[in-house]
Amino acid sequence: MAQATVNLKSIRLLCLFTDSVVSNIHAPKIIRAPINPITDITSLYCKTLYKFFLYIGIMQSPICEICLKSDILCGACKEKFDSGATTQLEIDISRFLFNLAGKVKSLADIKILKVFDFKLIIIITARGDGAKIVGRGGSIVKVLAKKFKKPIKVIEHSQFKEFIQNLLQPVSFLGVNTVYTLNGEFYKVRIAEAQQARLQFSQEEFSEIIKALYGCKTELSFE
Ligand SMILES: [Zn+2]
Repeated sequence: MAQATVNLKSIRLLCLFTDSVVSNIHAPKIIRAPINPITDITSLYCKTLYKFFLYIGIMQSPICEICLKSDILCGACKEKFDSGATTQLEIDISRFLFNLAGKVKSLADIKILKVFDFKLIIIITARGDGAKIVGRGGSIVKVLAKKFKKPIKVIEHSQFKEFIQNLLQPVSFLGVNTVYTLNGEFYKVRIAEAQQARLQFSQEEFSEIIKALYGCKTELSFE
């Protein structure tokens, strides 16, 4: 009984430690379950180990690590896929990069947030991971483009305006205005009309990306 108490205490401590570290690196909130000392000790131990692995640097993607290694999806990932929260392309690209990480060590701890499949494939990564997916001299995006038969654009998640600027490149915006309407507010991203033809995606595709990542409405305006 005394031994069990000690073990539980150490697991609790390790949990608290990994919780704070993992939350600092914005890990997904999939393992924050309430602690039940009587019935859930094995499950808690597994979750704690999983959090620790996240902390020491394991690739994070729209699917879990088990599904990265497998050809099938676990229950939770299947649910995300069925609901449309994860797409087949996100799964394919995540698994491809996970396999590549065996040879390219810098890919081992990347975090892929979203993948959009338009005229070009847009991969959104956590801040600091963009260059790792681009690879030296663009070596990894070249492999991705060849494999998935489309040009690849990699963008890091960042502050709202900084992200919009990176997403729009090579086009630059004139400004972002907040517009208040009876149906709520939206952001109007103003672009010089002369640059419209250089945009790499449509108005709807732009809005879809911003909505998925920042949860707000946007509209491109040409002037
Ligand atoms: Zn899974």
